[in-house]
Amino acid sequence: MKYSSLVDVYEKIESTSKRLEKTHHISELLKKTNEEDIHTIVLLLRGRLYPDWDKRKIGVANKLVLKAINTASGAGAGKIEQLWKEIGDLGLVAEKVIKRKIQATLFSKDLTVAKVFANLRKLNEMEGAGSVDRKIQLIAELLSSAKPKEAKYIVRNVLEDLRVGIGEGTMRDALVWAYMSVKVDYNAEKTSIDVDREKYNDAVDIVQSALDKSNDFTTVALAAKKGASELKKVSITPGNPIKVMLAQKVADMDEGFEKVGTPADIEFKYDGFRMQIHKSKGKIKIFTRRLEEVTSQFPEVVDSVKKNVKGDNFILDCEAVGYDAKKEKYLAFQHISQRIRRKYNIQELAKKMPIELNVFDILFYKGESLLNKPLKVRIKLLEKIVSEKKLSIVVAKRAITSKKEEAIKFYEESVKKGNEGVMLKNLDSAYKPGSRVGFMVKLKTAMNTLDFVIVGAEWGEGKRSGWLTSFTLACINDDGNFLETGKVGTGIKEKAEEGLSFGELTETLKPHIKQEKGKEVTIKPEIVLEIQFDEIQKSPTYSSGYALRFPRVVQLRDDRAPEECSDLNMVKEAFEKQKKR
Ligand code: AMP
Repeated sequence: MKYSSLVDVYEKIESTSKRLEKTHHISELLKKTNEEDIHTIVLLLRGRLYPDWDKRKIGVANKLVLKAINTASGAGAGKIEQLWKEIGDLGLVAEKVIKRKIQATLFSKDLTVAKVFANLRKLNEMEGAGSVDRKIQLIAELLSSAKPKEAKYIVRNVLEDLRVGIGEGTMRDALVWAYMSVKVDYNAEKTSIDVDREKYNDAVDIVQSALDKSNDFTTVALAAKKGASELKKVSITPGNPIKVMLAQKVADMDEGFEKVGTPADIEFKYDGFRMQIHKSKGKIKIFTRRLEEVTSQFPEVVDSVKKNVKGDNFILDCEAVGYDAKKEKYLAFQHISQRIRRKYNIQELAKKMPIELNVFDILFYKGESLLNKPLKVRIKLLEKIVSEKKLSIVVAKRAITSKKEEAIKFYEESVKKGNEGVMLKNLDSAYKPGSRVGFMVKLKTAMNTLDFVIVGAEWGEGKRSGWLTSFTLACINDDGNFLETGKVGTGIKEKAEEGLSFGELTETLKPHIKQEKGKEVTIKPEIVLEIQFDEIQKSPTYSSGYALRFPRVVQLRDDRAPEECSDLNMVKEAFEKQKKR
C-alpha cells in the first residue's frame, strides 16, 4: 500500500474531533488493506512500531530529525531551526521545506507503507559507533522521496508523536466496522450510524475481549478479518503482559456495598505498586501496571515466587510493598519507586528495601485462563498454591462480609496499619483487564487525589533557574486526547532529601520536551503525578473545561502509563460529587 493512502487518513482524522467520523475513515482504510499490510497499518495508525505490550521506543531526538530534514531538503540548518521555533511542530516544518524543494525538482517514486515501516524499525534497532549518521540517512532517505504531506507524517512517525487522536476505543470500533459481520451504515452528513444495536454491541464485546487478552491490535485485526470464531481463540498467554483491571472510587462503605453487592470481599489496600507476575515454562517475568518488564530489578521477588508458589505456568496480580529491612517498617510508594528504575547495584538496594508481595488475584493457571471464573474461585486457588512467608509473599488480607460494622472495623484496622484504605470486590465477578467496570472499588482515606499527566511547564527564574516549575496538568478523554486541567507548583521540594524535587522532576521530564518558546515548554504526555486538590471548578481557561483549586503534588507515579491517568469522566464525577456535599 502507498504511504500516501495512510497519510490521507491521518489528515482526515486530524481535521475532525468527531469519533464516528474518525472511525469511518479508519475502517475504510482497513477494508482496503491487504493481509500483508494489516500488521503495519494497524501499528502506524496508532503511531506505534510494536504492539501495546511491547515498550520499545524509537527514541530519536529532535536535533537528529532537524539534520535529516536538512540533508533531504538542502535547506539550511539555521533556517529549519528558525521555522521550528515559529511553528513548533517539526512535522509541519518538514512539510514546508519539502514543498519548497519540490517546486524546484521533479519527483521520483512513490513511498510505500512497508518501506516507511522498515526504516522506522531500523532506526530502533541501530546502536553503536556511526549509528547517529546512519539514522539521519534512514530518515533523510524517506524524506527525499516524500511529498510534503508525507514528510509531515514521516517526521511525526519518527518522533512517535502523531498528534492525531486515535484512542483505543476508536481503533476497536473501526475493526468492528471493517471486519465483523454486522452492517454499519454511516451517515456522513449527520455523523451518525444505523446498526442493529444488539448485534453491534456483541461484536464490540468480542473484539474488546480479544484485545484485553492479547494487548495487541495486530493480532486482533488479523483474527477479526478471519471471523468471530478466530477472535474467540485469542487468549492470554503467560509471558505477554495483559492490562490490569482498574478500580472505581467510592465515597463510603454504603456506596461500596452498593457497587459490588454483598457479601463483599474486602481487602487491605496496600500502598505499593502493582506487579503482574508471569511464570511460563518455569521462567518468571515481572511487569508493572504500565506493562513494562522489571524482572531484573526485583531478584528477591523472582526467588520468592519460585519457592513459594506452586505451578509452572500462571499469572498473578499483586501489590508490591517495600519495607525498610533494618526497621522492618513498611515504606510508602514514593520511597520504593526508585527500585523500578534502578539499573545498577540492584542486589544492594534489594537488601536495603526489599519487597513484600501481596498477591490478590490469579488470572491464569495450568494452561487455562481464569478471567471468566468468579473471584471466589480465583481466591480459593490462590490460597491453595501460595505458601505465605511474612515480609516475602502473602495473600492479601481480607474479610468477607455483608455487615457494615464489620467492614468499617476492617477498614479501620487497615488504615491503622498504614494502608491507604480498602478495596471492595464482587465475589462473583470475572476479571476484566484494562477496565474500570466496578467489579472492584477503592475506599481511601479522606485525601482528594487524582492522577494527571504533565503536558507543559515553565523554566524557573532566580534561585529556581535551571529547573522546570509550574507544571501544566492534563486528564485524558475517551479518544485518548489529553486535556488541560490547570497548573501545579506546590508540593515539589527544592532539596532532593525532602522528597520529589524540582531537580528530579526536571531531569525526568527533559527527554520528553517537545518544544520551547521563551520560558514556556511543551512536554510529551509521559509522566504522571498524583495531585491533591481542595476542589474542582468549571473553567473556560483549560481545554478540559475544569480547573483544580489549590493543587499540590503528592508524588510521582512512575508506575503509571500516561493513558492510565484520570479520565475526563472522573474529573466530572469528582466535580459533581462535591456539589452534593
Ligand atoms: P488506585 O491506585 O488509587 O487507583 O487504586 C488501585 C490500586 O490499588 C491497584 O492498581 C493496586 O495497585 C492497588 N492495590 C493495593 N491493594 C490492593 C488489593 N488488595 N487489591 C487490588 N488492588 C490493590
